[in-house]
Amino acid sequence: MCQSADPRDKRLRPSIYVETERGSILVDTSPDLRQQALTFGITRVDAILFTHSHADHILGLDEIRRFNAMQDGPIPCYAAADVWASIRRTFYYAFDGVPRKGGGIPKIDAHVIDGPFTVVGVRVIPVPLWHGDTPIVGFRFGRFAYLTDCSGLPDESWPLVAGVDTLVIDALRDTKHPTHFNVEEAVETARSIGAERTYLTHLTHRLGHARLAADLPEGVEPAFDGLAIHIEE
Ligand SMILES: [Zn+2]
Ligand SMILES: [Zn+2]
Repeated sequence: MCQSADPRDKRLRPSIYVETERGSILVDTSPDLRQQALTFGITRVDAILFTHSHADHILGLDEIRRFNAMQDGPIPCYAAADVWASIRRTFYYAFDGVPRKGGGIPKIDAHVIDGPFTVVGVRVIPVPLWHGDTPIVGFRFGRFAYLTDCSGLPDESWPLVAGVDTLVIDALRDTKHPTHFNVEEAVETARSIGAERTYLTHLTHRLGHARLAADLPEGVEPAFDGLAIHIEE
């Protein structure tokens, strides 16, 4: 059980919300989506992007029904073809076309990611990542990049993150892990990318915020739930 008194150590599953003047983009639908939306006052989602199909990133998809109702329509969702295959299995009732009395179906307008695209006026660059042996994507928006759940960048991705000045990157724990960067690897990768500001995410219980923050080099900080970062367009 988490016994830390530091509110920054109370962590829900990984997701970010990108708010722009033209609309808002949610990256991943964590199993905590409902609680995250209520806690942080998220009342609108204009598009959803998926990084990969692990349970901690997709299991909240059913929660978009509330946004469907408030916005009166489906939400455009973007994922790679293999991620859609998993989502279609997990949330079969949203895709099988079987009419269900009383509704209860998330309304999803599915788009396949196969390169950069524009959504709510924002240019989105998918950044291929290695999550262990699994190819997944991070996303770049302008000079900001969100690289969660990764243990390596393939060669093709380095040009895609060139010029990123604000970075959020996976740093699971201190010790090595087969599918996630540890803190040292995340810091090293951030330095290679050359980001001015880096925030570490997907942190385990053992990485307490205060202790980790004190150990990190200049320009690198632990992220925390509710952290808001301003990005110049
Ligand atoms: Zn994962
Ligand atoms: Zn994850």
